[in-house]
Amino acid sequence: RAKDNGRGGHFGYVPSLHASAEERRQLELSLREALEREELTLQFQPVVNAQDSSIVSFEALSRWNSEEHGFVSPTKFIPIAEDTRLIVPIGKWVMRKACTEARNWPEHVKVNVNVSPEQLLEEDFAEDVVNCLAQTGLRPERLEIEVTESIFLRDASIARAALEQVLALGCQVALDDFGTGYSSLGYIRRLRFSTIKVDRTFVKGAAQNNAESLAIIRAVVAMAQSLDMSTTAEGAETAEEVELIRKLGCDKIQGYYFGRPMTATDARRLFRDPQELRRA
Ligand code: C2E
Ligand code: MG
Ligand code: MG
Ligand code: MG
Repeated sequence: RAKDNGRGGHFGYVPSLHASAEERRQLELSLREALEREELTLQFQPVVNAQDSSIVSFEALSRWNSEEHGFVSPTKFIPIAEDTRLIVPIGKWVMRKACTEARNWPEHVKVNVNVSPEQLLEEDFAEDVVNCLAQTGLRPERLEIEVTESIFLRDASIARAALEQVLALGCQVALDDFGTGYSSLGYIRRLRFSTIKVDRTFVKGAAQNNAESLAIIRAVVAMAQSLDMSTTAEGAETAEEVELIRKLGCDKIQGYYFGRPMTATDARRLFRDPQELRRA
Protein backbone atom coordinates (compact mmCIF):
# COMPACT_ATOMS: atom_id res chain seq x y z
CA ARG A 1 0.00 0.00 0.00
CA ALA A 2 1.10 3.55 -0.69
CA LYS A 3 3.10 5.18 2.05
CA ASP A 4 3.43 8.81 2.82
CA ASN A 5 6.91 9.08 4.27
CA GLY A 6 8.53 12.43 3.68
CA ARG A 7 5.82 13.84 1.49
CA GLY A 8 4.59 16.59 3.72
CA GLY A 9 2.37 14.62 6.04
CA HIS A 10 -0.94 14.67 4.23
CA PHE A 11 -2.85 11.60 5.32
CA GLY A 12 -6.19 12.20 3.75
CA TYR A 13 -5.76 10.13 0.62
CA VAL A 14 -5.20 6.64 1.99
CA PRO A 15 -8.34 4.82 0.91
CA SER A 16 -8.22 2.21 3.64
CA LEU A 17 -9.73 2.70 7.07
CA HIS A 18 -6.52 1.25 8.38
CA ALA A 19 -3.46 3.44 8.37
CA SER A 20 -0.02 2.05 7.59
CA ALA A 21 2.27 1.42 10.56
CA GLU A 22 4.34 4.57 10.08
CA GLU A 23 1.26 6.69 9.51
CA ARG A 24 -0.35 5.29 12.63
CA ARG A 25 2.74 6.01 14.69
CA GLN A 26 2.73 9.64 13.60
CA LEU A 27 -0.99 10.06 14.06
CA GLU A 28 -0.74 8.49 17.51
CA LEU A 29 1.96 10.96 18.58
CA SER A 30 -0.17 13.90 17.49
CA LEU A 31 -3.36 12.43 18.92
CA ARG A 32 -1.69 12.32 22.36
CA GLU A 33 -1.52 16.11 22.23
CA ALA A 34 -4.83 16.73 20.51
CA LEU A 35 -7.00 17.19 23.61
CA GLU A 36 -4.62 19.62 25.30
CA ARG A 37 -4.19 21.59 22.11
CA GLU A 38 -7.96 21.74 21.72
CA GLU A 39 -7.80 20.24 18.26
CA LEU A 40 -10.84 18.05 18.83
CA THR A 41 -14.34 19.37 18.26
CA LEU A 42 -17.79 17.88 18.07
CA GLN A 43 -20.27 18.07 15.27
CA PHE A 44 -23.92 17.19 15.59
CA GLN A 45 -26.10 15.37 13.08
CA PRO A 46 -29.89 15.44 13.34
CA VAL A 47 -31.94 12.27 13.76
CA VAL A 48 -35.54 12.86 12.73
CA ASN A 49 -38.90 11.22 13.37
CA ALA A 50 -39.69 9.24 10.21
CA GLN A 51 -43.37 10.23 10.34
CA ASP A 52 -43.21 14.00 10.68
CA SER A 53 -39.49 14.77 10.12
CA SER A 54 -39.21 16.55 13.47
CA ILE A 55 -35.84 16.42 15.23
CA VAL A 56 -35.71 13.77 17.95
CA SER A 57 -32.00 13.87 18.69
CA PHE A 58 -28.54 14.79 17.51
CA GLU A 59 -25.64 12.37 17.28
CA ALA A 60 -22.37 13.85 18.52
CA LEU A 61 -19.52 13.05 16.11
CA SER A 62 -15.87 13.80 16.86
CA ARG A 63 -13.75 15.86 14.52
CA TRP A 64 -9.97 16.23 14.63
CA ASN A 65 -8.27 19.10 12.89
CA SER A 66 -4.61 18.34 13.53
CA GLU A 67 -1.84 20.90 13.41
CA GLU A 68 0.43 18.37 11.67
CA HIS A 69 -1.96 16.31 9.61
CA GLY A 70 -4.89 18.55 8.82
CA PHE A 71 -8.34 17.08 9.00
CA VAL A 72 -8.26 13.41 10.02
CA SER A 73 -11.43 11.30 9.70
CA PRO A 74 -12.80 9.62 12.83
CA THR A 75 -12.80 6.36 10.86
CA LYS A 76 -9.02 6.72 11.03
CA PHE A 77 -8.31 8.27 14.43
CA ILE A 78 -10.93 6.52 16.55
CA PRO A 79 -9.39 3.05 15.90
CA ILE A 80 -5.97 4.47 16.84
CA ALA A 81 -7.45 6.04 19.96
CA GLU A 82 -9.00 2.66 20.83
CA ASP A 83 -5.76 0.72 20.35
CA THR A 84 -3.78 3.18 22.48
CA ARG A 85 -6.51 3.68 25.12
CA LEU A 86 -6.47 7.40 24.32
CA ILE A 87 -10.18 6.82 23.69
CA VAL A 88 -10.69 6.87 27.47
CA PRO A 89 -9.81 10.56 28.02
CA ILE A 90 -11.16 11.48 24.57
CA GLY A 91 -14.42 9.68 25.31
CA LYS A 92 -14.81 11.48 28.64
CA TRP A 93 -14.29 14.78 26.88
CA VAL A 94 -16.87 13.85 24.20
CA MET A 95 -19.44 12.86 26.83
CA ARG A 96 -19.03 16.15 28.72
CA LYS A 97 -19.04 18.32 25.65
CA ALA A 98 -22.09 16.56 24.16
CA CYS A 99 -24.15 16.72 27.38
CA THR A 100 -23.21 20.35 27.90
CA GLU A 101 -24.35 21.26 24.40
CA ALA A 102 -27.60 19.28 24.70
CA ARG A 103 -28.64 21.57 27.56
CA ASN A 104 -29.08 24.31 24.93
CA TRP A 105 -31.70 22.33 23.03
CA PRO A 106 -35.42 21.85 23.66
CA GLU A 107 -36.08 19.42 26.51
CA HIS A 108 -37.48 16.67 24.28
CA VAL A 109 -34.36 16.48 22.09
CA LYS A 110 -31.85 13.79 23.00
CA VAL A 111 -28.15 13.49 22.43
CA ASN A 112 -26.49 10.35 21.08
CA VAL A 113 -22.91 9.67 22.15
CA ASN A 114 -20.71 6.93 20.66
CA VAL A 115 -18.90 4.85 23.26
CA SER A 116 -16.08 2.40 22.47
CA PRO A 117 -15.65 -0.99 24.20
CA GLU A 118 -12.44 0.21 25.89
CA GLN A 119 -14.41 2.91 27.70
CA LEU A 120 -16.90 0.38 29.05
CA LEU A 121 -14.06 -1.69 30.48
CA GLU A 122 -12.91 1.23 32.62
CA GLU A 123 -13.98 0.73 36.19
CA ASP A 124 -15.34 4.24 36.52
CA PHE A 125 -17.39 4.45 33.31
CA ALA A 126 -20.83 4.57 34.93
CA GLU A 127 -19.56 6.84 37.70
CA ASP A 128 -18.23 9.23 35.10
CA VAL A 129 -21.63 9.30 33.38
CA VAL A 130 -23.27 10.06 36.74
CA ASN A 131 -20.84 12.93 37.32
CA CYS A 132 -21.30 14.22 33.82
CA LEU A 133 -25.09 14.30 34.15
CA ALA A 134 -24.83 15.97 37.55
CA GLN A 135 -22.36 18.58 36.34
CA THR A 136 -24.29 19.43 33.19
CA GLY A 137 -27.78 19.06 34.63
CA LEU A 138 -28.89 16.90 31.71
CA ARG A 139 -31.75 14.53 32.50
CA PRO A 140 -30.51 10.94 32.07
CA GLU A 141 -33.41 10.15 29.71
CA ARG A 142 -31.91 12.59 27.23
CA LEU A 143 -28.64 10.67 26.88
CA GLU A 144 -28.52 7.72 24.50
CA ILE A 145 -25.23 5.87 24.38
CA GLU A 146 -24.34 4.16 21.08
CA VAL A 147 -22.38 0.93 21.13
CA THR A 148 -21.63 -1.58 18.39
CA GLU A 149 -21.75 -5.34 18.49
CA SER A 150 -17.99 -5.31 19.10
CA ILE A 151 -18.65 -4.75 22.82
CA PHE A 152 -19.73 -8.38 22.99
CA LEU A 153 -16.51 -9.76 21.54
CA ARG A 154 -14.32 -9.73 24.62
CA ASP A 155 -14.96 -9.09 28.30
CA ALA A 156 -18.61 -8.98 27.36
CA SER A 157 -19.81 -9.35 30.94
CA ILE A 158 -17.89 -6.27 32.10
CA ALA A 159 -19.19 -4.17 29.22
CA ARG A 160 -22.71 -5.39 29.84
CA ALA A 161 -22.51 -4.63 33.55
CA ALA A 162 -21.38 -1.07 32.75
CA LEU A 163 -24.30 -0.62 30.37
CA GLU A 164 -26.74 -2.06 32.92
CA GLN A 165 -25.52 0.60 35.33
CA VAL A 166 -26.20 3.45 32.91
CA LEU A 167 -29.58 1.92 32.02
CA ALA A 168 -30.38 1.94 35.73
CA LEU A 169 -29.65 5.68 35.75
CA GLY A 170 -32.38 6.12 33.14
CA CYS A 171 -30.10 6.58 30.14
CA GLN A 172 -30.74 4.72 26.90
CA VAL A 173 -28.49 2.47 24.87
CA ALA A 174 -28.59 2.10 21.09
CA LEU A 175 -27.06 -0.70 19.04
CA ASP A 176 -25.12 1.10 16.28
CA ASP A 177 -24.27 -0.09 12.75
CA PHE A 178 -26.48 -3.11 13.21
CA GLY A 179 -25.79 -5.87 10.73
CA THR A 180 -22.20 -5.00 9.83
CA GLY A 181 -20.24 -6.65 12.62
CA TYR A 182 -20.32 -10.10 14.09
CA SER A 183 -24.07 -9.90 14.31
CA SER A 184 -25.78 -12.32 16.55
CA LEU A 185 -29.37 -12.02 17.60
CA GLY A 186 -28.27 -13.36 20.97
CA TYR A 187 -26.78 -9.94 21.73
CA ILE A 188 -30.16 -8.29 21.43
CA ARG A 189 -31.54 -10.63 24.04
CA ARG A 190 -28.83 -9.76 26.51
CA LEU A 191 -29.37 -6.04 26.86
CA ARG A 192 -32.37 -3.70 26.84
CA PHE A 193 -31.48 -1.62 23.80
CA SER A 194 -33.77 1.33 23.19
CA THR A 195 -32.85 1.64 19.53
CA ILE A 196 -31.38 -0.49 16.77
CA LYS A 197 -29.57 1.58 14.18
CA VAL A 198 -29.72 -0.15 10.81
CA ASP A 199 -26.43 0.38 9.03
CA ARG A 200 -26.48 2.50 5.93
CA THR A 201 -25.25 -0.33 3.71
CA PHE A 202 -28.73 -1.87 4.04
CA VAL A 203 -30.44 1.43 3.28
CA LYS A 204 -28.29 1.82 0.16
CA GLY A 205 -28.93 -1.77 -0.84
CA ALA A 206 -32.66 -1.56 -0.33
CA ALA A 207 -32.86 1.62 -2.42
CA GLN A 208 -31.10 -0.27 -5.21
CA ASN A 209 -33.74 -2.98 -5.01
CA ASN A 210 -31.43 -5.46 -3.38
CA ALA A 211 -33.81 -8.15 -2.15
CA GLU A 212 -31.59 -9.23 0.77
CA SER A 213 -31.21 -5.69 2.11
CA LEU A 214 -34.95 -5.14 1.90
CA ALA A 215 -35.67 -8.41 3.67
CA ILE A 216 -33.15 -7.63 6.41
CA ILE A 217 -34.58 -4.17 7.11
CA ARG A 218 -38.10 -5.64 7.24
CA ALA A 219 -36.96 -8.35 9.63
CA VAL A 220 -35.11 -5.90 11.91
CA VAL A 221 -38.11 -3.57 12.04
CA ALA A 222 -40.46 -6.47 12.90
CA MET A 223 -38.10 -7.80 15.53
CA ALA A 224 -37.59 -4.35 17.09
CA GLN A 225 -41.34 -3.76 17.23
CA SER A 226 -42.02 -7.00 19.04
CA LEU A 227 -39.16 -6.34 21.46
CA ASP A 228 -40.36 -2.79 22.13
CA MET A 229 -37.22 -1.25 20.64
CA SER A 230 -37.17 1.54 18.07
CA THR A 231 -35.28 1.57 14.78
CA THR A 232 -33.18 4.27 13.16
CA ALA A 233 -32.17 4.00 9.51
CA GLU A 234 -28.70 5.41 8.91
CA GLY A 235 -27.40 7.16 5.82
CA ALA A 236 -30.50 8.29 3.94
CA GLU A 237 -29.25 10.67 1.26
CA THR A 238 -32.10 10.94 -1.25
CA ALA A 239 -35.85 11.54 -1.21
CA GLU A 240 -36.32 8.05 -2.64
CA GLU A 241 -34.38 6.49 0.22
CA VAL A 242 -36.39 8.47 2.77
CA GLU A 243 -39.64 7.38 1.15
CA LEU A 244 -38.57 3.74 1.16
CA ILE A 245 -37.47 3.84 4.81
CA ARG A 246 -40.85 5.27 5.77
CA LYS A 247 -42.63 2.51 3.91
CA LEU A 248 -40.49 -0.10 5.63
CA GLY A 249 -41.61 1.29 8.98
CA CYS A 250 -38.39 2.56 10.57
CA ASP A 251 -39.12 4.98 13.39
CA LYS A 252 -36.26 7.42 12.88
CA ILE A 253 -34.01 8.52 10.04
CA GLN A 254 -30.48 9.92 10.12
CA GLY A 255 -28.72 10.94 6.94
CA TYR A 256 -27.42 13.67 4.69
CA TYR A 257 -30.89 14.17 3.24
CA PHE A 258 -32.04 15.80 6.48
CA GLY A 259 -28.72 17.18 7.59
CA ARG A 260 -25.01 16.55 7.60
CA PRO A 261 -23.01 16.67 10.81
CA MET A 262 -22.87 20.40 11.68
CA THR A 263 -21.35 22.73 14.24
CA ALA A 264 -23.06 23.23 17.59
CA THR A 265 -23.99 26.75 16.48
CA ASP A 266 -25.69 25.49 13.33
CA ALA A 267 -27.51 22.80 15.30
CA ARG A 268 -28.93 25.43 17.67
CA ARG A 269 -29.97 27.50 14.70
CA LEU A 270 -32.17 24.63 13.48
CA PHE A 271 -34.43 25.13 16.48
CA ARG A 272 -34.88 28.78 15.65
CA ASP A 273 -35.31 28.20 11.92
CA PRO A 274 -36.77 24.72 11.55
CA GLN A 275 -37.31 25.28 7.83
CA GLU A 276 -33.54 25.05 7.49
CA LEU A 277 -33.97 21.33 8.06
CA ARG A 278 -34.92 19.59 4.86
CA ARG A 279 -38.46 18.31 5.09
CA ALA A 280 -39.50 15.37 2.97
P1 C2E B 1 -21.36 6.14 13.36
O1 C2E B 1 -21.47 6.21 14.85
O2 C2E B 1 -22.10 5.06 12.67
O3 C2E B 1 -21.79 7.57 12.83
C1 C2E B 1 -22.45 7.77 11.60
C2 C2E B 1 -21.47 8.07 10.50
O4 C2E B 1 -22.17 8.08 9.25
C3 C2E B 1 -20.83 9.45 10.63
O5 C2E B 1 -19.53 9.39 10.06
C4 C2E B 1 -21.76 10.29 9.74
O6 C2E B 1 -21.14 11.47 9.27
C5 C2E B 1 -22.01 9.32 8.62
N1 C2E B 1 -23.24 9.62 7.90
C6 C2E B 1 -24.40 10.08 8.40
N2 C2E B 1 -25.35 10.23 7.44
C7 C2E B 1 -24.75 9.83 6.29
C8 C2E B 1 -25.21 9.76 4.91
O7 C2E B 1 -26.34 10.09 4.58
N3 C2E B 1 -24.31 9.31 4.00
C9 C2E B 1 -23.03 8.95 4.35
N4 C2E B 1 -22.22 8.54 3.37
N5 C2E B 1 -22.58 9.01 5.62
C10 C2E B 1 -23.42 9.44 6.58
P2 C2E B 1 -18.26 10.02 10.81
O8 C2E B 1 -18.63 11.28 11.50
O9 C2E B 1 -17.14 10.04 9.81
O10 C2E B 1 -17.93 8.97 11.94
C11 C2E B 1 -17.52 7.68 11.60
C12 C2E B 1 -17.52 6.76 12.80
O11 C2E B 1 -16.51 7.15 13.74
C13 C2E B 1 -18.83 6.78 13.58
O12 C2E B 1 -19.80 6.00 12.93
C14 C2E B 1 -18.36 6.22 14.90
O13 C2E B 1 -18.27 4.81 14.83
C15 C2E B 1 -16.96 6.79 15.02
N6 C2E B 1 -16.99 7.98 15.88
C16 C2E B 1 -17.18 9.28 15.56
N7 C2E B 1 -17.09 10.07 16.66
C17 C2E B 1 -16.87 9.23 17.72
C18 C2E B 1 -16.69 9.43 19.13
O14 C2E B 1 -16.77 10.55 19.67
N8 C2E B 1 -16.45 8.31 19.90
C19 C2E B 1 -16.37 7.06 19.33
N9 C2E B 1 -16.13 6.02 20.15
N10 C2E B 1 -16.55 6.84 18.02
C20 C2E B 1 -16.80 7.91 17.22
MG1 MG C 1 -23.03 6.20 16.09
MG1 MG D 1 -23.85 4.29 13.06
MG1 MG E 1 -22.58 3.50 10.55
